[in-house]
Amino acid sequence: MRDKLFIDGQWAAPAEGGTFPVIDPATEETIFQAPAGTARDIDHAVRAARHAFDHGPWPRLSGKERAGCLRRIADIILARKEELARLEVRDNGKPLPEAIWDMEDTAGCFNFYAGLAEEMDEHPEETIVLTEPRFSSKVVREPVGVAGAIIPWNYPLLMASWKVAPALAAGCTMVLKPSELTPLTALELGAIVEEAGLPAGVLNIVTGLGADAGQPLSEHSGVDKLAFTGSVPTGAKIMAAAARDIKNISLELGGKSPFVVFADSDIDKAVEWIMFGIFWNQGQVCSATSRVLVEESLYPALLERLVEEAARIRIGNGLADGTLLGPLVSKGQYDKVLAAIERGRQEGATIAGGGKRPAGLNTGYFLEPTILTDMAEDSFVWKEEIFGPVVCVKPFRDEEDAIRMANNSRFGLAAAVMSKDRVRCERVARAFRAGIVWINCSQPTFTEAPWGGYKQSGIGRELGRWGLANYLETKQITAFESDEPWGWYIKN
Ligand code: NAD
Repeated sequence: MRDKLFIDGQWAAPAEGGTFPVIDPATEETIFQAPAGTARDIDHAVRAARHAFDHGPWPRLSGKERAGCLRRIADIILARKEELARLEVRDNGKPLPEAIWDMEDTAGCFNFYAGLAEEMDEHPEETIVLTEPRFSSKVVREPVGVAGAIIPWNYPLLMASWKVAPALAAGCTMVLKPSELTPLTALELGAIVEEAGLPAGVLNIVTGLGADAGQPLSEHSGVDKLAFTGSVPTGAKIMAAAARDIKNISLELGGKSPFVVFADSDIDKAVEWIMFGIFWNQGQVCSATSRVLVEESLYPALLERLVEEAARIRIGNGLADGTLLGPLVSKGQYDKVLAAIERGRQEGATIAGGGKRPAGLNTGYFLEPTILTDMAEDSFVWKEEIFGPVVCVKPFRDEEDAIRMANNSRFGLAAAVMSKDRVRCERVARAFRAGIVWINCSQPTFTEAPWGGYKQSGIGRELGRWGLANYLETKQITAFESDEPWGWYIKN
């Protein structure tokens, strides 16, 4: 475990010398004291990134050269996959097979953007056809400059890669501020990029608290672009901080995504995908389909089956064999989720399954997979993101009713629909007001496809070529090609 910040290619103790505890959520033990960066470290890191951008080789390399470095980063992550995954489990709590999957996805993300960096060499400029024959015009794409990335704790290294990989592919330099709840693999990323030969100052990693390190990064005038993933309230603060300097921003925020299940669905498949949609990663997934809408005629049978299957999910330490549900990430998150369940109960919801600490697991932030029913459409649990293994299930009358209920949310990150009728699925997919729609499944995420939300779920898209575009400026170069005088002021 690394106890220093990674700034300008060096491992540096935080300027104010502080630390914050890293707690294993399965054991509640403090496993590490992480370096607490503050405004001085952020300033140091931004200056390093600025210098590397203005004077260093990175933005001036060919796409192919940058791709070589990105591929080396991917190779090192794959070579260290098991060890990094174990570190992620101790930090975040998730089951080991999920963490291994995350490491593979992280490496895949670096490889994908390596490919896009190479493609940039093949298409260095785009000719624009003008109606005015005396002029020529072309468009070139250039890196946006110094990027600041602030990320959450639910997929610690994977969320870092969604920002670091496209930023580096584009030729930007970056300051990364990981979540204070899960700083360990992000610090390892410093060692990985060092080994891969990334030039000094291109990626700087400053761990620290949101107010002490995140806020100074969002306010720093040396930052050209801010990319944030996290909660809506913090997103609003970042947006306000960015407004002062008109910083380019992209925001990936929360959700309360619906999953509409029609009565012709296979009940086994529906239950499996509903569970994957909300219990995977302990439900701490921004796109979790936490509101399940089931057609009336299927509702009683589906609910019974869901309660039965959810109760079978093996809960335990993420490092133990066979665990499919680990602890929530922190005491704060655990208390928040328990309080939401209690609020649901007080508002009249029925706890159809789970809702409490599993028997025999007296230490750790463990919670049974929880199924709530009978809540009102304007209740807290139906409307607000709980970010835990808690699903709200409600019956619907017909397609129109389902679409109305699904879209009745201030969020619009994801949505899912299940039916044997593909024409209906396509129709409902188009009707959802959400940036990510799944048909006959929920959650599978691919690096090639755009990721982001409508409404209060965010601004912009990550992943795919949209993710690269976040870190590129568009410049038009227009030339007067005629030998004739312009003849506006000076007439011959
Ligand atoms: P959070 O907003 O509390 O924290 C996110 C990051 O912001 C952390 O690094 C934190 O230190 C930092 N931060 C906190 N206050 C700050 C401030 N004033 N200025 C600058 N930075 C600050 O969110 P979280 O609890 O870490 O993550 C959970 C949230 O993230 C959920 O709402 C979830 O839906 C969302 N999320 C969204 C996506 C997506 O792709 N849309 C993905 C993962 C998580």
